[in-house]
Amino acid sequence: MAARTDLDGRPIKPMTICMIGAGGFIGSHLCEKLMAETPHKVLALDVYNDKIKHLLEPDSLPWAGRIEFHRINIKHDSRLEGLIKMADLTINLAAICTPADYNTRPLDTIYSNFIDALPGVKYCSENSKRLIHFSTCEVYGKTIGSFLPKDSPLRKDPAYYVLKEDTSPCIFGSIEKQRWSYACAKQLIERLIYAEGAENGLDFTIVRPFNWIGPRMDFIPGIDGPSEGVPRVLACFSNNLLRREPLKLVDGGQSQRTFVYIKDAIEAVLLMIENPDRANGHIFNVGNPNNEVTVRQLAEMMTQVYTKVSREPMLQSPSIDVSSKEFYGEGYDDSDKRIPDMTIINKQLGWNPKTSLWDLLESTLTYQHRTYAEAIKKSMAKPTAS
Ligand code: NAD
Ligand code: UDP
Repeated sequence: MAARTDLDGRPIKPMTICMIGAGGFIGSHLCEKLMAETPHKVLALDVYNDKIKHLLEPDSLPWAGRIEFHRINIKHDSRLEGLIKMADLTINLAAICTPADYNTRPLDTIYSNFIDALPGVKYCSENSKRLIHFSTCEVYGKTIGSFLPKDSPLRKDPAYYVLKEDTSPCIFGSIEKQRWSYACAKQLIERLIYAEGAENGLDFTIVRPFNWIGPRMDFIPGIDGPSEGVPRVLACFSNNLLRREPLKLVDGGQSQRTFVYIKDAIEAVLLMIENPDRANGHIFNVGNPNNEVTVRQLAEMMTQVYTKVSREPMLQSPSIDVSSKEFYGEGYDDSDKRIPDMTIINKQLGWNPKTSLWDLLESTLTYQHRTYAEAIKKSMAKPTAS
Protein backbone atom coordinates (compact mmCIF):
# COMPACT_ATOMS: atom_id res chain seq x y z
CA MET A 1 0.00 0.00 0.00
CA ALA A 2 1.43 3.46 -0.96
CA ALA A 3 2.39 5.69 2.01
CA ARG A 4 -0.66 7.68 3.02
CA THR A 5 -0.39 11.36 3.88
CA ASP A 6 -2.76 13.63 5.77
CA LEU A 7 -4.18 16.91 4.44
CA ASP A 8 -1.01 18.69 5.58
CA GLY A 9 1.29 16.31 3.72
CA ARG A 10 2.47 14.38 6.81
CA PRO A 11 2.69 10.58 6.72
CA ILE A 12 -0.19 8.86 8.51
CA LYS A 13 0.89 6.28 11.09
CA PRO A 14 -1.14 3.06 11.28
CA MET A 15 -3.49 3.22 14.28
CA THR A 16 -5.77 0.96 16.27
CA ILE A 17 -9.42 2.01 16.34
CA CYS A 18 -11.93 0.78 18.91
CA MET A 19 -15.23 0.98 17.00
CA ILE A 20 -18.35 0.59 19.13
CA GLY A 21 -21.43 -0.28 17.04
CA ALA A 22 -19.19 -1.52 14.20
CA GLY A 23 -21.79 -4.09 13.15
CA GLY A 24 -24.39 -1.51 12.13
CA PHE A 25 -25.06 0.31 8.86
CA ILE A 26 -22.44 3.06 9.18
CA GLY A 27 -19.98 0.81 11.04
CA SER A 28 -20.04 -1.81 8.29
CA HIS A 29 -19.17 0.76 5.62
CA LEU A 30 -16.49 2.34 7.77
CA CYS A 31 -14.88 -1.06 8.50
CA GLU A 32 -14.98 -1.89 4.79
CA LYS A 33 -13.25 1.38 3.89
CA LEU A 34 -10.62 1.03 6.63
CA MET A 35 -9.80 -2.53 5.57
CA ALA A 36 -9.67 -1.82 1.82
CA GLU A 37 -7.82 1.49 1.82
CA THR A 38 -5.83 1.96 5.03
CA PRO A 39 -3.37 0.05 7.22
CA HIS A 40 -5.36 0.74 10.40
CA LYS A 41 -6.48 -1.98 12.77
CA VAL A 42 -10.11 -2.20 13.99
CA LEU A 43 -11.41 -3.65 17.24
CA ALA A 44 -15.02 -4.05 16.14
CA LEU A 45 -17.50 -4.09 19.06
CA ASP A 46 -21.18 -4.89 18.68
CA VAL A 47 -23.87 -7.31 19.74
CA TYR A 48 -24.34 -8.36 16.08
CA ASN A 49 -21.88 -8.95 13.24
CA ASP A 50 -24.06 -9.99 10.28
CA LYS A 51 -23.29 -6.80 8.33
CA ILE A 52 -19.50 -7.24 8.70
CA LYS A 53 -19.32 -11.05 8.32
CA HIS A 54 -17.87 -10.60 4.82
CA LEU A 55 -14.94 -8.73 6.38
CA LEU A 56 -14.33 -11.28 9.14
CA GLU A 57 -14.41 -14.52 7.12
CA PRO A 58 -12.62 -16.36 5.63
CA ASP A 59 -9.23 -16.04 7.33
CA SER A 60 -7.55 -15.68 3.93
CA LEU A 61 -8.89 -12.15 3.36
CA PRO A 62 -6.08 -9.66 2.60
CA TRP A 63 -6.80 -7.73 5.83
CA ALA A 64 -7.08 -10.79 8.09
CA GLY A 65 -5.58 -9.90 11.44
CA ARG A 66 -6.44 -6.20 11.09
CA ILE A 67 -10.07 -6.58 12.16
CA GLU A 68 -11.14 -8.33 15.34
CA PHE A 69 -14.78 -8.77 16.34
CA HIS A 70 -15.73 -8.56 20.03
CA ARG A 71 -19.34 -9.47 20.83
CA ILE A 72 -19.99 -6.92 23.55
CA ASN A 73 -23.06 -5.16 24.88
CA ILE A 74 -21.64 -1.89 26.20
CA LYS A 75 -24.48 -1.66 28.74
CA HIS A 76 -22.73 -4.20 30.94
CA ASP A 77 -19.32 -5.42 29.89
CA SER A 78 -16.16 -4.84 31.87
CA ARG A 79 -14.01 -5.47 28.77
CA LEU A 80 -14.88 -2.04 27.33
CA GLU A 81 -12.25 -0.03 29.22
CA GLY A 82 -9.46 -2.49 28.30
CA LEU A 83 -10.35 -2.29 24.60
CA ILE A 84 -10.45 1.51 24.68
CA LYS A 85 -7.03 1.52 26.37
CA MET A 86 -5.61 -0.77 23.64
CA ALA A 87 -6.72 1.67 20.91
CA ASP A 88 -5.46 5.09 19.79
CA LEU A 89 -8.95 6.25 18.88
CA THR A 90 -12.48 5.26 19.89
CA ILE A 91 -15.42 5.76 17.53
CA ASN A 92 -18.84 5.35 19.13
CA LEU A 93 -21.70 4.53 16.76
CA ALA A 94 -23.80 2.41 19.13
CA ALA A 95 -27.34 3.69 19.57
CA ILE A 96 -31.02 3.07 19.21
CA CYS A 97 -31.61 5.36 16.24
CA THR A 98 -34.86 4.40 14.48
CA PRO A 99 -37.63 7.01 14.91
CA ALA A 100 -40.30 4.32 15.45
CA ASP A 101 -38.56 3.59 18.78
CA TYR A 102 -38.30 7.17 20.07
CA ASN A 103 -41.95 7.52 21.15
CA THR A 104 -42.68 3.83 21.77
CA ARG A 105 -39.49 2.92 23.70
CA PRO A 106 -38.40 6.30 25.08
CA LEU A 107 -36.63 4.80 28.11
CA ASP A 108 -34.51 2.45 25.99
CA THR A 109 -33.85 5.35 23.62
CA ILE A 110 -32.65 7.69 26.38
CA TYR A 111 -30.57 4.98 28.09
CA SER A 112 -28.97 3.90 24.84
CA ASN A 113 -28.10 7.38 23.59
CA PHE A 114 -27.03 8.92 26.90
CA ILE A 115 -26.46 6.55 29.84
CA ASP A 116 -24.85 3.74 27.81
CA ALA A 117 -22.57 6.19 26.01
CA LEU A 118 -21.20 7.67 29.26
CA PRO A 119 -18.59 5.00 30.20
CA GLY A 120 -16.97 5.28 26.75
CA VAL A 121 -16.59 9.05 27.15
CA LYS A 122 -15.23 8.64 30.68
CA TYR A 123 -12.67 5.98 29.68
CA CYS A 124 -11.46 8.11 26.77
CA SER A 125 -11.12 11.16 28.99
CA GLU A 126 -9.37 9.32 31.86
CA ASN A 127 -6.96 7.49 29.55
CA SER A 128 -6.27 10.49 27.27
CA LYS A 129 -7.67 8.72 24.21
CA ARG A 130 -9.24 10.45 21.26
CA LEU A 131 -13.01 10.07 20.73
CA ILE A 132 -15.14 10.46 17.60
CA HIS A 133 -18.74 10.33 18.78
CA PHE A 134 -21.76 9.95 16.50
CA SER A 135 -24.55 12.36 17.33
CA THR A 136 -27.32 13.35 14.90
CA CYS A 137 -28.70 16.23 12.82
CA GLU A 138 -31.82 15.73 14.90
CA VAL A 139 -30.21 17.74 17.73
CA TYR A 140 -31.28 20.81 15.73
CA GLY A 141 -34.92 19.70 16.02
CA LYS A 142 -37.26 22.01 14.14
CA THR A 143 -36.20 25.03 12.09
CA ILE A 144 -36.79 28.59 13.32
CA GLY A 145 -38.72 29.14 10.07
CA SER A 146 -41.29 26.49 11.00
CA PHE A 147 -42.62 28.83 13.70
CA LEU A 148 -43.22 31.72 11.27
CA PRO A 149 -46.65 32.28 9.70
CA LYS A 150 -47.13 30.00 6.66
CA ASP A 151 -47.10 32.96 4.24
CA SER A 152 -44.10 34.77 5.79
CA PRO A 153 -41.47 35.64 3.12
CA LEU A 154 -38.81 34.99 5.80
CA ARG A 155 -39.47 31.25 5.44
CA LYS A 156 -37.54 31.48 2.16
CA ASP A 157 -34.54 33.13 3.87
CA PRO A 158 -31.77 30.56 4.57
CA ALA A 159 -31.09 32.34 7.89
CA TYR A 160 -34.35 30.76 9.10
CA TYR A 161 -33.67 27.18 8.07
CA VAL A 162 -30.02 26.34 7.29
CA LEU A 163 -28.56 24.42 10.26
CA LYS A 164 -25.17 25.62 11.52
CA GLU A 165 -23.11 23.78 14.11
CA ASP A 166 -21.98 26.86 16.03
CA THR A 167 -25.01 29.14 15.87
CA SER A 168 -28.28 27.26 15.31
CA PRO A 169 -30.40 26.58 18.40
CA CYS A 170 -31.77 23.13 19.30
CA ILE A 171 -35.58 23.36 19.10
CA PHE A 172 -37.58 20.38 20.36
CA GLY A 173 -41.30 19.82 21.03
CA SER A 174 -42.97 19.44 24.41
CA ILE A 175 -42.12 16.51 26.73
CA GLU A 176 -45.26 14.61 25.76
CA LYS A 177 -43.95 14.58 22.19
CA GLN A 178 -41.65 11.69 23.04
CA ARG A 179 -40.17 11.75 19.53
CA TRP A 180 -37.64 14.17 20.96
CA SER A 181 -36.30 11.73 23.59
CA TYR A 182 -33.57 10.70 21.12
CA ALA A 183 -32.58 14.24 20.11
CA CYS A 184 -32.50 15.36 23.73
CA ALA A 185 -30.33 12.41 24.86
CA LYS A 186 -27.94 13.04 21.95
CA GLN A 187 -27.82 16.73 22.80
CA LEU A 188 -26.90 16.00 26.41
CA ILE A 189 -24.13 13.55 25.46
CA GLU A 190 -22.79 16.19 23.04
CA ARG A 191 -22.76 18.74 25.86
CA LEU A 192 -21.03 16.29 28.19
CA ILE A 193 -18.33 15.48 25.60
CA TYR A 194 -17.86 19.18 24.90
CA ALA A 195 -17.49 19.82 28.63
CA GLU A 196 -14.95 16.96 28.96
CA GLY A 197 -13.00 18.74 26.23
CA ALA A 198 -13.23 22.11 27.93
CA GLU A 199 -12.57 20.99 31.53
CA ASN A 200 -10.45 17.84 31.17
CA GLY A 201 -8.79 18.25 27.77
CA LEU A 202 -10.58 15.34 26.02
CA ASP A 203 -9.71 15.26 22.31
CA PHE A 204 -13.10 14.82 20.69
CA THR A 205 -14.92 15.14 17.39
CA ILE A 206 -18.72 15.06 17.17
CA VAL A 207 -20.40 13.96 13.93
CA ARG A 208 -23.94 15.01 13.06
CA PRO A 209 -25.09 12.77 10.18
CA PHE A 210 -27.86 14.15 7.95
CA ASN A 211 -29.79 11.11 6.60
CA TRP A 212 -26.93 8.93 5.34
CA ILE A 213 -28.42 6.18 3.18
CA GLY A 214 -27.24 3.21 1.13
CA PRO A 215 -26.93 -0.58 1.07
CA ARG A 216 -27.20 -2.47 4.39
CA MET A 217 -29.26 0.27 6.05
CA ASP A 218 -31.58 -1.17 8.72
CA PHE A 219 -33.57 -4.28 7.73
CA ILE A 220 -36.41 -5.53 5.58
CA PRO A 221 -39.28 -6.49 7.92
CA GLY A 222 -39.98 -10.22 7.90
CA ILE A 223 -36.76 -11.00 5.99
CA ASP A 224 -33.78 -9.91 8.09
CA GLY A 225 -35.68 -8.13 10.84
CA PRO A 226 -38.96 -8.45 12.77
CA SER A 227 -42.10 -8.47 10.59
CA GLU A 228 -43.72 -5.79 12.74
CA GLY A 229 -40.53 -3.66 12.92
CA VAL A 230 -40.50 -0.15 11.43
CA PRO A 231 -37.08 0.82 10.04
CA ARG A 232 -36.05 4.25 8.68
CA VAL A 233 -37.62 5.60 5.50
CA LEU A 234 -35.20 4.04 2.97
CA ALA A 235 -35.93 0.52 4.24
CA CYS A 236 -39.67 1.21 4.72
CA PHE A 237 -40.03 2.35 1.11
CA SER A 238 -37.72 -0.43 -0.19
CA ASN A 239 -39.89 -2.98 1.63
CA ASN A 240 -43.06 -1.53 0.08
CA LEU A 241 -41.51 -1.55 -3.40
CA LEU A 242 -40.22 -5.12 -3.04
CA ARG A 243 -43.66 -6.31 -1.89
CA ARG A 244 -45.48 -4.23 -4.53
CA GLU A 245 -47.40 -2.30 -1.88
CA PRO A 246 -48.07 1.45 -1.95
CA LEU A 247 -45.49 3.57 -0.12
CA LYS A 248 -46.90 5.10 3.07
CA LEU A 249 -46.58 8.87 3.32
CA VAL A 250 -46.70 9.96 6.95
CA ASP A 251 -48.83 13.10 7.41
CA GLY A 252 -48.81 13.71 3.66
CA GLY A 253 -45.02 13.33 3.18
CA GLN A 254 -44.50 17.09 3.47
CA SER A 255 -41.35 16.98 5.66
CA GLN A 256 -38.13 17.73 3.86
CA ARG A 257 -34.83 15.87 4.12
CA THR A 258 -31.41 16.01 2.47
CA PHE A 259 -29.99 12.55 1.72
CA VAL A 260 -26.30 11.78 1.36
CA TYR A 261 -24.78 8.60 -0.05
CA ILE A 262 -23.11 6.51 2.62
CA LYS A 263 -19.93 6.17 0.55
CA ASP A 264 -19.55 9.98 0.31
CA ALA A 265 -20.17 10.36 4.04
CA ILE A 266 -17.61 7.67 4.92
CA GLU A 267 -14.97 9.71 3.06
CA ALA A 268 -15.67 12.53 5.52
CA VAL A 269 -15.25 10.20 8.52
CA LEU A 270 -11.95 8.90 7.15
CA LEU A 271 -10.70 12.48 6.85
CA MET A 272 -11.63 13.05 10.51
CA ILE A 273 -9.85 9.85 11.57
CA GLU A 274 -6.64 10.70 9.72
CA ASN A 275 -6.52 14.46 10.41
CA PRO A 276 -6.87 14.78 14.18
CA ASP A 277 -5.37 18.27 14.31
CA ARG A 278 -8.07 19.52 11.96
CA ALA A 279 -10.92 17.50 13.46
CA ASN A 280 -10.37 17.66 17.22
CA GLY A 281 -12.62 20.04 19.13
CA HIS A 282 -15.09 20.29 16.24
CA ILE A 283 -18.71 19.35 15.65
CA PHE A 284 -19.31 18.49 11.99
CA ASN A 285 -22.50 18.43 9.96
CA VAL A 286 -22.14 15.67 7.37
CA GLY A 287 -24.81 15.77 4.69
CA ASN A 288 -25.60 16.79 1.12
CA PRO A 289 -27.44 20.15 0.94
CA ASN A 290 -27.99 19.62 -2.81
CA ASN A 291 -30.09 16.47 -2.36
CA GLU A 292 -33.18 18.02 -0.76
CA VAL A 293 -36.62 16.50 -1.35
CA THR A 294 -39.93 16.21 0.45
CA VAL A 295 -40.70 12.67 1.61
CA ARG A 296 -43.40 12.61 -1.09
CA GLN A 297 -40.81 13.46 -3.76
CA LEU A 298 -38.51 10.79 -2.34
CA ALA A 299 -41.32 8.24 -2.69
CA GLU A 300 -41.89 9.28 -6.30
CA MET A 301 -38.20 9.09 -7.15
CA MET A 302 -37.72 5.71 -5.44
CA THR A 303 -40.73 4.36 -7.34
CA GLN A 304 -39.29 5.52 -10.67
CA VAL A 305 -35.81 4.18 -9.90
CA TYR A 306 -37.17 0.85 -8.66
CA THR A 307 -39.31 0.45 -11.78
CA LYS A 308 -36.12 0.92 -13.81
CA VAL A 309 -33.91 -1.50 -11.84
CA SER A 310 -36.54 -4.23 -11.28
CA ARG A 311 -38.16 -3.92 -14.73
CA GLU A 312 -41.51 -4.38 -12.98
CA PRO A 313 -44.46 -2.13 -13.90
CA MET A 314 -45.41 0.68 -11.53
CA LEU A 315 -48.51 0.24 -9.32
CA GLN A 316 -51.56 2.29 -10.31
CA SER A 317 -51.53 4.00 -6.92
CA PRO A 318 -47.86 4.00 -5.88
CA SER A 319 -48.40 5.78 -2.53
CA ILE A 320 -51.00 6.33 0.18
CA ASP A 321 -51.30 8.86 2.99
CA VAL A 322 -51.26 7.68 6.62
CA SER A 323 -51.45 9.71 9.81
CA SER A 324 -48.38 9.75 12.05
CA LYS A 325 -50.55 8.48 14.91
CA GLU A 326 -51.54 5.45 12.87
CA PHE A 327 -47.99 4.83 11.63
CA TYR A 328 -45.84 5.65 14.67
CA GLY A 329 -48.38 5.94 17.52
CA GLU A 330 -48.89 8.63 20.15
CA GLY A 331 -46.09 11.15 20.79
CA TYR A 332 -44.62 11.28 17.28
CA ASP A 333 -43.47 14.64 15.95
CA ASP A 334 -41.19 15.54 13.05
CA SER A 335 -38.28 17.68 11.92
CA ASP A 336 -39.68 19.90 9.17
CA LYS A 337 -36.54 20.57 7.13
CA ARG A 338 -32.85 19.67 7.37
CA ILE A 339 -30.30 21.55 5.31
CA PRO A 340 -26.76 21.25 6.67
CA ASP A 341 -24.43 24.22 6.55
CA MET A 342 -21.15 22.90 5.11
CA THR A 343 -18.80 25.76 6.02
CA ILE A 344 -16.99 24.08 8.92
CA ILE A 345 -16.36 20.68 7.33
CA ASN A 346 -15.34 22.39 4.13
CA LYS A 347 -12.86 24.66 5.86
CA GLN A 348 -11.38 22.03 8.19
CA LEU A 349 -11.36 18.96 5.94
CA GLY A 350 -12.10 20.20 2.41
CA TRP A 351 -14.91 17.63 2.15
CA ASN A 352 -17.84 17.85 -0.25
CA PRO A 353 -20.47 15.23 -1.10
CA LYS A 354 -20.50 14.06 -4.73
CA THR A 355 -23.39 11.71 -5.45
CA SER A 356 -26.78 12.93 -6.68
CA LEU A 357 -29.97 11.57 -5.14
CA TRP A 358 -30.94 9.76 -8.34
CA ASP A 359 -27.53 8.04 -8.61
CA LEU A 360 -27.42 7.00 -4.97
CA LEU A 361 -30.95 5.61 -5.17
CA GLU A 362 -30.08 3.73 -8.33
CA SER A 363 -27.12 1.92 -6.74
CA THR A 364 -28.96 1.37 -3.45
CA LEU A 365 -32.17 0.02 -5.00
CA THR A 366 -30.15 -2.21 -7.33
CA TYR A 367 -28.59 -3.66 -4.16
CA GLN A 368 -31.99 -3.99 -2.43
CA HIS A 369 -33.48 -5.76 -5.44
CA ARG A 370 -30.49 -8.12 -5.82
CA THR A 371 -30.39 -8.91 -2.09
CA TYR A 372 -34.07 -9.24 -1.22
CA ALA A 373 -36.36 -9.78 -4.25
CA GLU A 374 -36.08 -13.58 -4.23
CA ALA A 375 -36.47 -13.89 -0.45
CA ILE A 376 -39.56 -11.66 -0.54
CA LYS A 377 -41.13 -13.70 -3.36
CA LYS A 378 -40.55 -16.90 -1.39
CA SER A 379 -41.93 -15.45 1.84
CA MET A 380 -45.02 -14.12 0.07
CA ALA A 381 -45.65 -17.46 -1.64
CA LYS A 382 -45.73 -19.30 1.73
CA PRO A 383 -49.22 -19.91 3.09
CA THR A 384 -49.74 -17.84 6.25
CA ALA A 385 -50.11 -19.82 9.50
CA SER A 386 -53.71 -19.99 10.65
P1 NAD B 1 -27.34 1.13 13.24
O1 NAD B 1 -28.50 0.84 14.10
O2 NAD B 1 -27.24 0.42 11.93
O3 NAD B 1 -25.98 0.85 14.04
C1 NAD B 1 -25.86 0.96 15.43
C2 NAD B 1 -25.12 -0.30 15.92
O4 NAD B 1 -24.90 -0.15 17.33
C3 NAD B 1 -25.95 -1.58 15.73
O5 NAD B 1 -25.21 -2.56 15.03
C4 NAD B 1 -26.25 -2.05 17.15
O6 NAD B 1 -26.27 -3.45 17.30
C5 NAD B 1 -25.09 -1.40 17.92
N1 NAD B 1 -25.43 -1.23 19.34
C6 NAD B 1 -26.50 -0.59 19.86
N2 NAD B 1 -26.49 -0.67 21.20
C7 NAD B 1 -25.38 -1.39 21.53
C8 NAD B 1 -24.86 -1.82 22.77
N3 NAD B 1 -25.46 -1.56 23.92
N4 NAD B 1 -23.70 -2.52 22.76
C9 NAD B 1 -23.09 -2.83 21.58
N5 NAD B 1 -23.55 -2.45 20.38
C10 NAD B 1 -24.71 -1.74 20.36
O7 NAD B 1 -27.31 2.71 13.01
P2 NAD B 1 -26.39 3.61 12.04
O8 NAD B 1 -27.27 4.21 11.01
O9 NAD B 1 -25.18 2.87 11.63
O10 NAD B 1 -26.01 4.80 13.03
C11 NAD B 1 -24.80 4.85 13.76
C12 NAD B 1 -24.76 6.13 14.58
O11 NAD B 1 -24.97 7.28 13.76
C13 NAD B 1 -25.83 6.20 15.69
O12 NAD B 1 -25.25 6.77 16.83
C14 NAD B 1 -26.89 7.13 15.13
O13 NAD B 1 -27.57 7.82 16.14
C15 NAD B 1 -26.03 8.07 14.26
N6 NAD B 1 -26.85 8.63 13.15
C16 NAD B 1 -26.99 7.97 11.97
C17 NAD B 1 -27.74 8.55 10.95
C18 NAD B 1 -27.88 7.94 9.59
O14 NAD B 1 -28.23 8.67 8.69
N7 NAD B 1 -27.64 6.67 9.38
C19 NAD B 1 -28.37 9.79 11.16
C20 NAD B 1 -28.22 10.42 12.39
C21 NAD B 1 -27.44 9.83 13.38
N1 UDP C 1 -41.63 8.36 6.63
C1 UDP C 1 -42.74 8.11 5.80
N2 UDP C 1 -43.06 6.81 5.51
C2 UDP C 1 -42.36 5.74 5.99
C3 UDP C 1 -41.24 6.00 6.83
C4 UDP C 1 -40.90 7.32 7.13
O1 UDP C 1 -43.40 9.04 5.33
O2 UDP C 1 -42.72 4.59 5.65
C5 UDP C 1 -41.23 9.77 6.91
C6 UDP C 1 -41.04 10.15 8.38
O3 UDP C 1 -42.28 10.55 8.96
C7 UDP C 1 -40.04 11.30 8.27
C8 UDP C 1 -39.17 10.91 7.07
O4 UDP C 1 -39.93 9.93 6.35
O5 UDP C 1 -40.74 12.50 7.94
C9 UDP C 1 -37.80 10.36 7.41
O6 UDP C 1 -37.93 9.32 8.33
P1 UDP C 1 -36.73 8.41 8.85
O7 UDP C 1 -37.33 7.29 9.61
O8 UDP C 1 -35.81 8.02 7.75
O9 UDP C 1 -35.92 9.27 9.90
P2 UDP C 1 -35.70 10.82 10.24
O10 UDP C 1 -35.15 11.51 9.05
O11 UDP C 1 -37.05 11.38 10.66
O12 UDP C 1 -34.74 10.77 11.37
